[in-house]
Amino acid sequence: MNPYTKNINRIELVITYACTGRCKHCSEGDHAMCGESIDADIAAKAVYRLAEEYKIKSLMTFGGEPLLYPEAVCKIHSTAKAVGILKRQLITNGFFSTDRKRIAEVAENLAKSGVNDILLSVDAFHQETIPLEPVKVFAQEVKAGVSIRTSPAWLVSKTDDNSYNQKTREVLNEFRQMGISEADGNVVFPSGNALKYLSEYFDPNVVFENPYEEDPNDIRAISIEPDGRVLGGNAYVDDICEIINKYKP
Ligand code: SF4
Repeated sequence: MNPYTKNINRIELVITYACTGRCKHCSEGDHAMCGESIDADIAAKAVYRLAEEYKIKSLMTFGGEPLLYPEAVCKIHSTAKAVGILKRQLITNGFFSTDRKRIAEVAENLAKSGVNDILLSVDAFHQETIPLEPVKVFAQEVKAGVSIRTSPAWLVSKTDDNSYNQKTREVLNEFRQMGISEADGNVVFPSGNALKYLSEYFDPNVVFENPYEEDPNDIRAISIEPDGRVLGGNAYVDDICEIINKYKP
């Protein structure tokens, strides 16, 4: 077995980079409203193959806004459940429709697909461009069938008292009143839009470590892009386990 990848235990799938948000803290930069999405059949096959070869403990779908393509999300999570992956997470900003019927339908399908941990990205930054009302409708609908927690982005630190964090605490309170508690969330990392719009909050003398970067000598999480790219290969062209076996840092 490839010594650099023998410890793979997590699968991450970027469903799309299209997004309904325009967040000024976004580490990925600017997003279009529509765009390429992952091929659900090939992604599901990759999940199946990875679970055959590795002890996969968790799987996460995210974006962009993954619920612009809920059918792909559900197909991937159904496969993850079928192959016995215990932790099945979705990160969403909760805004993909304003139609209550559609929101309820997607929430129901997510529960059926086996997603069991939804992290809802709500905070001062998201709510600058994402209306809170449809997000609350989604949260209300989905919490009947799936565990859901808010997952805010903090600026500087969770305890810093800047105006963004103050607004974030107000937003979180609205969800607390709905019975939805919060996860730790994350601290905004200086990359993409955050570097462009929030640079005054980052100390130029501090070297920030990217929390999302993998150790290239010991890959634990395998991340598949919407166009199939993964670890120097492409899952749309080659078997994902062959790509992993060929990997060198
Ligand atoms: S932070 Fe999330 S919701 Fe906001 S623009 Fe980036 S991907 Fe979209």
